[in-house]
Amino acid sequence: MENQVEEIKSKLDIVNVISRHLPLKKRGRHYIACCPFHQEKTPSFTVSPELQIFKCFGCGKGGDVFTFIQEFERVEFPEALEILAKQAGVVLKKTPQFSAQVSRAKVLLDINKNLSRFYHYLLVSHPLGKNALDYVLKRGLSLDTIKTFQIGFSPPNSQLLLNFLHKKNFADSDLIDTGTIGRSQYGSSRFYDRFSSRLVFPLIDHRQNILGFSGRALPGAPDNQAKYINSPETLVYHKSHMVFGLNLAKDFIRDTKTVIVTEGEFDMISPFQAGIKNIVAVKGTAFTLEQLQLLRRYADTLILALDSDFAGATAAQKSIQLADSLDFDIKVLTLGRKYKDPDEAVQADPVFFKKQLSSALPIWDFLILSSVHQYDASTVKGKKAILSTVLPFLIKIENSVIKADYFKKLADAVNSDYEAVSQEASKYGQNNSTPPPVSLDSLPPLSLQEKLEKNLLLLILGSKHPSKMVKNLKKELKIIALPSHQKLISLLSQKGRFSPQKIQQKLPPEMRDIFQSLFVQGTSIVIDAPRRLLEIKKLISQLQIDKLKNQLSALSQEIIKSEAKHQEKQLLRLESRYNRLLTKLSHLQVTK
Ligand SMILES: [Zn+2]
Repeated sequence: MENQVEEIKSKLDIVNVISRHLPLKKRGRHYIACCPFHQEKTPSFTVSPELQIFKCFGCGKGGDVFTFIQEFERVEFPEALEILAKQAGVVLKKTPQFSAQVSRAKVLLDINKNLSRFYHYLLVSHPLGKNALDYVLKRGLSLDTIKTFQIGFSPPNSQLLLNFLHKKNFADSDLIDTGTIGRSQYGSSRFYDRFSSRLVFPLIDHRQNILGFSGRALPGAPDNQAKYINSPETLVYHKSHMVFGLNLAKDFIRDTKTVIVTEGEFDMISPFQAGIKNIVAVKGTAFTLEQLQLLRRYADTLILALDSDFAGATAAQKSIQLADSLDFDIKVLTLGRKYKDPDEAVQADPVFFKKQLSSALPIWDFLILSSVHQYDASTVKGKKAILSTVLPFLIKIENSVIKADYFKKLADAVNSDYEAVSQEASKYGQNNSTPPPVSLDSLPPLSLQEKLEKNLLLLILGSKHPSKMVKNLKKELKIIALPSHQKLISLLSQKGRFSPQKIQQKLPPEMRDIFQSLFVQGTSIVIDAPRRLLEIKKLISQLQIDKLKNQLSALSQEIIKSEAKHQEKQLLRLESRYNRLLTKLSHLQVTK
């Protein structure tokens, strides 16, 4: 296994692998791009061909080709391995352990595919699905659309499905692990289908895998049945990652840079059928960071086509804040009072729907307008309600010019003035419930010594001959005190030509990341040789000063203690040492 990982790595160039997904630009010894893992306008995502790694200096993400594919494609290691083995032309020899891992997910996906085919066949080609098919057609979906989305029907009698699956030789335990098949509590050998008697929508990811299902109750179902049910979380299905329809919509989203987000399957499918194809659905109004990040890869603008009263819901407010933190341009589709959801609107009046879409309101305008609609701005109570609905959003606007604009708009809406509104805004606190910044470096701040040592290493690693540099400065570099930095210096001073790959191999795993960051960052610094040497010497003397200062402050503590205890002899000794160090310090500070 380990060998195969190395074999794949040796056959692939990380620059080639990543440039399949990102436009990489050469800069110096590296390649750079805007980071796919966090929002940025100037590129800090760096690929090092020498070390065969990537590193983002904005969000801190980094690693080798495998890490990249895992992060970018959102897959686990075994899947990344498969993807890259294919690219490298390596046939994977599977150890039992490994195949267990991969095949587990594969088996579940395979069962899901079979389930989906069975359901779909039943809906479109079997008398058992006739009623369900009539219902879908009556709701305005064409047979073509039904096929495109592979919509299906699960028969009331689960035995049919189980017979079909057993004929395919799937193990019962695997069937249960898909989340679709359950074991009945009455009698140990009875299985049932969770989606029985329902219309079934396969939940397909952007890579065409069927991860799970969503089932809608049909008219005439008992009242105590939930209208919609979904697959439970499984090895392959994670609700928080699922964006319905993305497999079909992603190219259209990429082309238009805009994604329309709806709440349910029909709200996504009907507009798609009507030619509005840059559209997806998430379940409910609470987006997750994962869903938004996935969409952010393709789109700059997010048009919310949710239920009309969504703005009041806390979940929606959080979603909007989250989308805002990813720098989405957020708009809201309004359907007036005429239609209750996108499905109904597009079926009844596609021209109206498209018109509303093209005039979707910026989120802040929408919030002001909808709350003025909801509350009476002429009463004190109404004004208060409007302010408390809208202000928590407006205070989050990062751009202060835009923020001031909306404060003015809000002030107008409640017949007040800008000052009063912005004063009111301060009550809500500027940062109270801001969502956590997306994956920022969570390292503790560096001490001065750490900073100086780090900068010193950056300059050394970025020089033309790092090893020579270290040998020439051997005596001075003794000032370096952090163990990880010392280790690096000692590796650099070893015999032979400097090779970042070799150093990487010799380092203990926990230090590789530190080295990679230092190397990639160091070799990105452009500075001529004499200037570099000057900077290096400056840093060394700063380190010496820092060390002296620390020693002096420790000494002064001791002096105070000795004074208190009247230890005259000790005091004299300490004081003379103190003065010696002080002279040294002033000497260093003069020559600095
Ligand atoms: Zn980043």
